[in-house]
Amino acid sequence: MSKKVRVRFAPSPTGGLHLGGVRTVLYNYLFAKAHGGDFILRIEDTDQTRFVPGAEQYIMDCLEWCGLVPDESPLVGGPHAPYRQSERKSMYKAYADQLIASGHAYYAFDTTEDLETMRRDFRRDDNTNPQYDHHTRMLMKNSISLPADEVNELLDKGTPYVVRIKMPEHTTVSLTDLIRGVIHFDSSLVDDKVLLKADGMPTYHLAVVVDDYLMQITHAFRGEEWLPSAPVHVLLWKYLGWENQMPLWAHLPLILKPDGNGKLSKRDGDRLGFPVFAMNWLDPKTGETTGGFREMGFIPQAFVNMLAMLGWNDGTGQELFTLDELVAKFSMERVHKGGAKFDFEKAKWFNHQYIQHTDNATLAGMIAPLINEKATVNGNNLAFLENVIALVKDRCTLLPDFWAQGHFFLETPEIKEMAAIKDKWNDARQNFFTNWANTLATTENWNHTDLEASFNAELPSHGLKKGDVMLPFRIMLVGAKFGPGVFAIAELIGREETIARIQRILA
Ligand code: GLU
Repeated sequence: MSKKVRVRFAPSPTGGLHLGGVRTVLYNYLFAKAHGGDFILRIEDTDQTRFVPGAEQYIMDCLEWCGLVPDESPLVGGPHAPYRQSERKSMYKAYADQLIASGHAYYAFDTTEDLETMRRDFRRDDNTNPQYDHHTRMLMKNSISLPADEVNELLDKGTPYVVRIKMPEHTTVSLTDLIRGVIHFDSSLVDDKVLLKADGMPTYHLAVVVDDYLMQITHAFRGEEWLPSAPVHVLLWKYLGWENQMPLWAHLPLILKPDGNGKLSKRDGDRLGFPVFAMNWLDPKTGETTGGFREMGFIPQAFVNMLAMLGWNDGTGQELFTLDELVAKFSMERVHKGGAKFDFEKAKWFNHQYIQHTDNATLAGMIAPLINEKATVNGNNLAFLENVIALVKDRCTLLPDFWAQGHFFLETPEIKEMAAIKDKWNDARQNFFTNWANTLATTENWNHTDLEASFNAELPSHGLKKGDVMLPFRIMLVGAKFGPGVFAIAELIGREETIARIQRILA
């Protein structure tokens, strides 16, 4: 029997979630659900200097908003708890010790100044950019370069040390990536990464391998930016004797700017007129909030669908998928190798499609809170809202558009285009609306067909054509030159309000 699929999303709580991060979550989630597996959220918070309070909560809220809820996490727990690496601190040292004992890692006692000296003074023709590796290792203060008794003395005295991996020289480290196939790395190019820090906290490199092993992770899907670290991880799996349990890897392509030039950053988000972060986030530097996709009025399902298509397709040209369909159709092998361009206009297209395909009752539930934010208006009459939605949804791309496109159903609008009425106003028009308003007071069937018929019937006695009074009527009802059919508007706002809006202008 094959092993149960277990995947993880392992963010460091150092800030908000980037689009690429949410997509990594999504691909992990889809893969897990497609294989009846588990999706685990593990918080990789071993770098305390980069810790941002609130970031973990933000990540969990974001996952929940997207509907990509983990089976195991710091929040819900699970058989491998704790799921925060800082709370697992005591577990890692034994593995560092094991690596030292087997000669694959060593103690390094170098101070910050020693490291600076190395970078400054050890530059050679064959090593123009010195790092802690096979070139410099023997020139530094560590348990390989120093005699054993000196090392023991340093350890006995409690001298601070880190543990570093001893990267082999001229060895080809290979890994199979589900998206890229077999990738080879030259071990000589990789430095002796720190595995355990002076305070006993592991670095990401040791913790990610130990935890993927202990949590029985079968597939590790992460951003392409982790590819350069992969040889270190592959060697650690091997050195710890776990090679047979190593997860299958996939390194997901970057998400690029719309012009395809370079990785999408938060700054690009601002420059291009949208924040990349998916939710409200208190920027640790500025203390300001950045509205995200949720605040802009994206429907979570549309956002998730859009994300799925950033770097993947099913080969048929289909673009709209429910989450269940994505689970059924997604495959890691079809993820593109090249970066995916993020196009905000396309993101909005997805949302527009979702609005058209979502039933009006569901939309009413989404929009009511937005309407209620407008202090003067009560958005809780959901039946009425549904009728408004039916009339304006084809004009709406983001949820706040419903207010912009339909506020005049809920409040008497300010007249923004009075000139369009005034310029051609004359007695004929004044009399037309006066008489018709009187007719409306007793019109039996208040529906758009009968309203239009009575409007048409009023025209000849004033020598007017329909085109002479349609625009003024629209401006009376809407305040401006937009909106659905005027008689449909009148039907919905009702007799009293229609007559009042006409008489407001006549006066
Ligand atoms: N903690 C890493 C991050 O912040 C996780 C990388 C991985 O999935 O191995 O992205």
